[in-house]
Amino acid sequence: MPEISMEMVKLLNEQLRKELESAYLYLSMAAYFESKGLKGFAHWMKLQAKEELEHAMKIYNYIYERGGRVELQTIPKPPGEWDSVTSAIRAALSHEEHMTTSINELYKKAVEMNDYATQVFLHWFIEEQVEEEDQLRDILSKLELAGESPNIIFILDRMMSERK
Ligand code: FE
Ligand code: CA
Repeated sequence: MPEISMEMVKLLNEQLRKELESAYLYLSMAAYFESKGLKGFAHWMKLQAKEELEHAMKIYNYIYERGGRVELQTIPKPPGEWDSVTSAIRAALSHEEHMTTSINELYKKAVEMNDYATQVFLHWFIEEQVEEEDQLRDILSKLELAGESPNIIFILDRMMSERK
C-alpha cells in the first residue's frame, strides 16, 4: 500500500480535532442539564461525549496504522448555556449534521486521492452519522411535539437515564 499522503494526514488530524470538539460540546451540554436537575439528559450527554472520544481515538489509531503523525489542534471553548432543553438538543442535532458533512467531504477527498484504505476506514463513520442524527432527531421530535411540556421532559429524562 502506498504511504498515506501528507494532505490526508492533515485532513484526518482536522477530523480528530472535530471529534474532540464534539466531546467537549456534549460534556458542556451534560453540565448544562446537570445544572437544571435533568440527570437523565446529563447521563445521555456524558455517554455521548465518551463516544466522541472513541471516534477521536479511532482516527488517532488509524493515522499511526498508516504511518502518519498525530498533531493535536486547539479546541475552542464550547457554549455553556442554551435557551431551553429543546434548543440544546436542536444545537446537538445541527452539530451532528455538520459532522456528517465533514465526514462526507473527507470521503470525497479519499476518493479523489485514490486512497482506498481511508475510504474503507470512513465507512464506519458514515454509518455512525446516520445513527447519531437519527437518535437526536427522535428526541427533538418528541420535545417539539409536546411543546417542551414539563411532563415530556420528565418522561424523556427517565428514558435517557436508561442509555447504556
Ligand atoms: Fe463523532
Ligand atoms: Ca453513536
